[in-house]
Amino acid sequence: MDRVLIFANPIAGRGLGEAIAYRIREGLAAGGYDARMWLLPPTELTEDDLPTGVTAAVAIGGDGTVRAVAERLYVLATAAGRETPPLLIIPLGTANLMVRHLGIDWDDDHLESQVVSAIRDGQIVWVDAARCNGSLFLLMVGVGFDAAVVHELSRVRRGPISYASYVLPAATVAASYRFPPVRVEVDGKMVFGPEDGVVFVGNVREYGTGFPFLPQARPDDGLLDICAMPCSNLLDAARLFLLAAAGEHIHEEGVVYLKGRRVRIDSPLTPAGVPVQIDGDAAGHTPVEIDLMPVRMRLIVPR
Ligand SMILES: [Mg+2]
Repeated sequence: MDRVLIFANPIAGRGLGEAIAYRIREGLAAGGYDARMWLLPPTELTEDDLPTGVTAAVAIGGDGTVRAVAERLYVLATAAGRETPPLLIIPLGTANLMVRHLGIDWDDDHLESQVVSAIRDGQIVWVDAARCNGSLFLLMVGVGFDAAVVHELSRVRRGPISYASYVLPAATVAASYRFPPVRVEVDGKMVFGPEDGVVFVGNVREYGTGFPFLPQARPDDGLLDICAMPCSNLLDAARLFLLAAAGEHIHEEGVVYLKGRRVRIDSPLTPAGVPVQIDGDAAGHTPVEIDLMPVRMRLIVPR
């Protein structure tokens, strides 16, 4: 019997994730699948919990959940000498860039049957996997101001996130962030800094709501897109966001935009490092080493 693993972040959408997981499990069981649910953090999944014959894995949650599920499945499947099963995403929470990128729009009234059809004969989209200081990511890494906001949010966060959740952390960071100099090396060549700035490295053009910082990024071109922008103060940051919304930031003086395979970002004048975020989650501080992995993740998209 074909097996499907269902992962839900139990706190996503105020418990909605768990309820959806039960619905999907029932739908899959009715469709003849051996469906198993996992409601704990994916990091706690062990090799014993990953049976053979897994046709697909369903990730219910935000981009952070998708990232965590993809990483854990990849690590366990690789250790067992198997292929990582393809992922199907049911978005919950605020940020679902991967779903937006894939153009997935589930109909809640027919979710179970749509999911079963997608697993049976959906389309497979290949996405380059990359890693940042050893952590797998599928979307992007941000270094600087926006990562500082993500760090502040994760510090004060209590429960599910909405767009309003970002307002207070953004105000706190705006009042205190000092825009430390960063330095960017791509494929062994220094391309930016040390200079006050913000840096994005990634594989998809979407970021947040309407700020495509990596407009030329493609998830299947075997390359990472890198955008490093001079940014010394809040006014610069606001201006960059507005320019990015119009897709014009890459033509600004001092902005470096290129493609590459290996990226190193550090902050030589700031020993404590500059905040880093990976796929929207706080992920420590610089220095960071980013590179593409020799694997592509398979994502399932309904027809
Ligand atoms: Mg790419």
